[in-house]
Amino acid sequence: MPRWLLLVSPHPDDIAFSLGGLIGQLKLPATLLTLFGRSNYTVANALQNDEREITLLRREEDRTFAKNNSLQWCYHEFPAAGLRFGGNWDKIFDNAAEPQKAVRAEMPKWNGPLRAAARLACGKGPPPAIIMLPAGLGNHHDHLLVREIFHKYAQEQDRPVAFYEDLPYALDLSESEIKAHMTEIDGSLKPQLLPFVDDTDDKVRRTTCYRSQVDEAVLRRLRLAGVRYGISAERIWSEVSNVSRIDLLR
Ligand SMILES: [Zn+2]
Repeated sequence: MPRWLLLVSPHPDDIAFSLGGLIGQLKLPATLLTLFGRSNYTVANALQNDEREITLLRREEDRTFAKNNSLQWCYHEFPAAGLRFGGNWDKIFDNAAEPQKAVRAEMPKWNGPLRAAARLACGKGPPPAIIMLPAGLGNHHDHLLVREIFHKYAQEQDRPVAFYEDLPYALDLSESEIKAHMTEIDGSLKPQLLPFVDDTDDKVRRTTCYRSQVDEAVLRRLRLAGVRYGISAERIWSEVSNVSRIDLLR
């Protein structure tokens, strides 16, 4: 049965930032599934842009990334949290005392559309060998929403998942904070480093097609993230039984 990988990206750029090193050396075919493409955010002007213009731009950036890296491309323009919450950063990043509460409140509304997107990306062929999901480090509302709904979907479909560390947000968390966050998802998750064959600069260069989302500061943080484990690597978390499978994917 042909094997393939489903890469779930809440926004255009999340997969490039978080797994761009892995993408550079993938042996398996993979599908990039981008969900919240409707957006008015740019790194230069935060949420102060024309929504139509930025949505078009971000779509083109994502299309270019998929094309440059030979990924199948599934793209959706669900409105990002910045549009839904009107620039309220505490809501966008769920900084409230109970971060999961706001996400759970929105889940009934997003269950249908996000599951339909998952089914569409999976198509009628063989199911994905593994589903890569955002861990939600940094508590971006959309990342948590996607993680919750896709994790349940994957369990129902009996598909293994791996959670990637959301970059650059994960850089702001200590090792023990990351561990606590992952334990909350599932106590049996174990970390696995995915070293790059190429170097961190190649990964960072790969992200620059997201021109509206990267500036020197973002690139510097991605460079830093790429070497924070002492080698050029990204880190994912999965159940022990999935680890050997993930090894096969590279
Ligand atoms: Zn994102």
